Amino acid sequence: MDLRRRPSKPAAAADSGNPNSKHPPSPLKYYVDEDPSLKLPPSLYFVNASVIFVFFTVLYYLLSRWREKIRSSSPFHVLSAPELAALLAFAASSVYLLGFFGVEFFQSLLLRPPSDLWADDCEEERVVSVVAEECARKAPCGQALDCETPKLDFDPVKPAALKAKPVETEKLDEPIGQTEEDEEVIASVVAGKTPSYSLESKLGDCRRAAAVRREALQRTTGKSLVGLPLEGFDYESILGQCCEMPVGYVQIPVGIAGPLVLDDREYSVPMATTEGCLVASTNRGCKAIAMCGGASSVVFRDGMTRAPVVRFSSAKRAAELKFYLESPANFEALSSIFNSSSRFAQLQSIKCAIAGKNLYLRFSCSTGDAMGMNMISKGVQNVMDFLQNDYPDMDVIGISGNFCSDKKPAAVNWIEGRGKSVVCEAVIKGDVVRKVLKTSVEALVELNMLKNLTGSAMAGALGGFNAHASNIVSAIYIATGQDPAQNVESSHCITMMEAVNDGKDLHVSVTMPSIEVGTVGGGTQLASQSACLNLLGVKGANREAPGSNSRLLATVVAGSVLAGELSLMSALAAGQLVKSHMKYNRSNKDVSKVSS
Ligand code: ADP
Repeated sequence: MDLRRRPSKPAAAADSGNPNSKHPPSPLKYYVDEDPSLKLPPSLYFVNASVIFVFFTVLYYLLSRWREKIRSSSPFHVLSAPELAALLAFAASSVYLLGFFGVEFFQSLLLRPPSDLWADDCEEERVVSVVAEECARKAPCGQALDCETPKLDFDPVKPAALKAKPVETEKLDEPIGQTEEDEEVIASVVAGKTPSYSLESKLGDCRRAAAVRREALQRTTGKSLVGLPLEGFDYESILGQCCEMPVGYVQIPVGIAGPLVLDDREYSVPMATTEGCLVASTNRGCKAIAMCGGASSVVFRDGMTRAPVVRFSSAKRAAELKFYLESPANFEALSSIFNSSSRFAQLQSIKCAIAGKNLYLRFSCSTGDAMGMNMISKGVQNVMDFLQNDYPDMDVIGISGNFCSDKKPAAVNWIEGRGKSVVCEAVIKGDVVRKVLKTSVEALVELNMLKNLTGSAMAGALGGFNAHASNIVSAIYIATGQDPAQNVESSHCITMMEAVNDGKDLHVSVTMPSIEVGTVGGGTQLASQSACLNLLGVKGANREAPGSNSRLLATVVAGSVLAGELSLMSALAAGQLVKSHMKYNRSNKDVSKVSS
């Protein structure tokens, strides 16, 4: 029988079997469990059994009679009374059995899509069917513009291939509480009379602007946004800061890894991700680190960079400016101009690179608890205005000339650093490597050398001497409101592993020269992100020691990367390297010597 075609059971009934249960059973469980209402009465069982018995008995009888006739060369059409009765009984039982069991079976055969398509959709379809049932039980969901229960685009009963409809006929959901006035604005946006970007200022209500824009978008594109929530978000908080023209928000689950024991403190690390196993794996690394007394970290550099590009009429003039900017005698004057942009901005250095007549001025400054891109840009602008007086022939081509370098893989960040440069280390005891990480010190050291060092060198890696630093960096960045695009350089990391204490234990470290994080500004002030920062104890500005919150966050990022590296490398070492050791009979090789 086709389970997918079972009628849905009312929620109340679903719970009736268990008077103590406060909640209805899991929809998935309900879906696959037997539905008592669908059980056959005993009399029907008896009738079915009898008919099946009759069917097979007469079938056997008819086949044996057929064989007799072939042997004796008797004509088939001459039937005796028992044969005629058997034939009628066979026909009658066939009709009954087909009617009872067969119709759906044949229908499903006829309507069945190609087998590979079915296989792909089958599991998803089961779940969607459950979700659709659940949605149907919740009152206004189907008509709401904003439906919190996700609905997928295809009919949960029919195979996806059979239900494709032209876009025009797709029914779009109606918005919640849409007024006549809203309807007018939507029509105006759809007609192109009111620009979508002006809705916030026109309506003076950010949530309403988002709802109107969303509905107008659905109508103009003919595509439903059901599944992308609208409600439950503070649209005022992003106005002019984080996102323009909002129509909803994407939900990303946040998992917790930890406790991460780092510099004698414990952190529960929030990770926003949809990659299965990532949090669990980082958690395992945290456990191994905690069992060995924790990790320690050092922020050895802290400076955001910005590098405008300027052009002169000659390379000589470009070089003159370079000498001027890099002369220690001029630093004080330049820094006082730069620092006037913010009480948190402190100029650290200006390093210049020449390309012919063009000069790239890489400013570096501390930015307190802010990641600092805005702050440094203001300081740089002040200096450029000042320089323009003494170098009137200087043509400022761009405030950012890519020598900074922001959101692009670049050796300058890898070598010179950008944001916070952090090194984090731990010594993992041999028995913890065996019991928690399920591998050996030797296997880890060898894998690290062949994969993270040699393999990455072979690949021509730029800061990519690690197993998956960007996984952890991205997840923490999204959870804590950092700029996820800065994951590019923030994930630069070299992971080192070395056997210590006579080869018994593992020294592991990550060195990350360009972790770009802040605890004020940007997305950090949004409610969810702010809650995650709060969990780490680094929410907002640190008033006593500006900059210490963002530096602490950078160490947590590095510590979590350390945990993630340990765990993934161990999984790889346990899964592949040990097997290959066995295969090539190299399991007794002292790998610790190789690394030293
Ligand atoms: P970013 O420079 O990272 O883009 P913003 O410039 O948007 O960040 O936000 C930083 C703002 O926060 C500045 O206006 C700054 O004056 C203010 N601020 C308050 N406290 C601090 C602090 N402890 N560190 C850095 N900035 C701070």
